[in-house]
Amino acid sequence: MIFYSTNLSAPHVSLKHAVLEGLAPDKGLYMPEYIPRFSEKELTDLSEAPFYELAFEIAKRFVNNELDHERLLGLIKDSYNFDVPLVQTGENTQILELFHGPTLAFKDFGARFMARLIGAFAEEDHRQITILVATSGDTGSAVAYGFQGVPNTRVVILYPSGKVSDIQEKQLTTLGGNVHALEVQGDFDACQKLVKEAFGDQELRSHLTLTSANSINISRLIPQSFYYAYAALKHRANYPDSPLLVSVPSGNFGNLTAGVFAQKMGFPIAHFIAATNLNESVPRYLNTGVFDPHATIETLSTAMDVGNPSNFSRLLDIFDKKLELFRGDITGFSIDDIETRQTMKDVYAMHNYILDPHTSVGYKALKMYREQTNLYDAYGIVLSTAHPAKFYDVVLNTLGIKVDIPERLQNVLTLEKKAQLIENDFNALKSFLKSFAC
Ligand SMILES: *Cc1c(COP(=O)(O)O)cnc(C)c1O
Repeated sequence: MIFYSTNLSAPHVSLKHAVLEGLAPDKGLYMPEYIPRFSEKELTDLSEAPFYELAFEIAKRFVNNELDHERLLGLIKDSYNFDVPLVQTGENTQILELFHGPTLAFKDFGARFMARLIGAFAEEDHRQITILVATSGDTGSAVAYGFQGVPNTRVVILYPSGKVSDIQEKQLTTLGGNVHALEVQGDFDACQKLVKEAFGDQELRSHLTLTSANSINISRLIPQSFYYAYAALKHRANYPDSPLLVSVPSGNFGNLTAGVFAQKMGFPIAHFIAATNLNESVPRYLNTGVFDPHATIETLSTAMDVGNPSNFSRLLDIFDKKLELFRGDITGFSIDDIETRQTMKDVYAMHNYILDPHTSVGYKALKMYREQTNLYDAYGIVLSTAHPAKFYDVVLNTLGIKVDIPERLQNVLTLEKKAQLIENDFNALKSFLKSFAC
């Protein structure tokens, strides 16, 4: 498969190139030259397939001959060694729980696949790849856990000292092995600036192969289409004649973009609901036709506090920059913190189910869509992007419930932090990184 840049002024590249480069040289995002289409027969044949097999069938079409298929199947099985359950809440609503991976959030789906794919490409070239990431919390932990123990890779994570939560810090600093945590005496912007400088430093790059692992990497997007395909086929097997709505709690819109990929591949999804908190650039675009991103607003659903979503350019590309096409597949709703808490309360009271604040935004948006369209019976799936224990305090002060913390999260709190404190100075980062070069 060939990949092009959304800015259209960079060379077309292979998957391997797109994955190792991350952002295209013209600062655009990589897109596949076409979205592979599954025939009716293929969909029927896959309707009972386990998750890993469906994932393999999709991944194969993007990877083609760039990786041995046995190898690809192996890395997929290794990436998805956890459940992806659909839980019923009410007659025509299900929640797709995407939080059963190691960091209790859906970002594990993208990060684990990306890590293993990069590891496989690195091994093929007999090289060691250094992944450099700046994080303000959650992305860093998904990436750290994703790459942990993956041969031919090492991860260096820069995080702002004193500015991440205790759990997040532990997740970043207790893995060891090929995961190195640098505690930077500065804020998140300082961390990002240091990472940028490293990518721009030719001398450093002559010693080390540096790759970024941020959310715009195409190898994080492709695997996020797997669970849409999986849920859509399950839905069709149970309700062959009922069109499916999928509501997606969104921040940078990588998740929703992957959903549109799955739909264009032929997996039966009738319509998407783009659910945002007060950071509503995309719902506003859908309502007014004007994309005018605002400064980021802080909300309860912190992982969706994104004023200017990075994957919007991919969606524009898919819909040929045509508002009508965009609207044909996606309706947007913005949900405030009061509604978010009220929905957590309602769903707990009615279904005895604890929503985290991000999933709650998705749940409420689905309800609003049904009301707006009078499609009260329409079947809907809400993607649950995080385990409620990750937002322990919000759940406690909204529902008065102390959520059980899964063992894997509890264990991390007892481990010893191992981070190297560095000054907010590029030379400090550079000398750390050069210690890997031989
Ligand atoms: C990252 C994240 C989101 C937003 O996903 P995007 O792909 O950026 O739209 C939603 N919920 C949680 C819990 C997240 O970590």
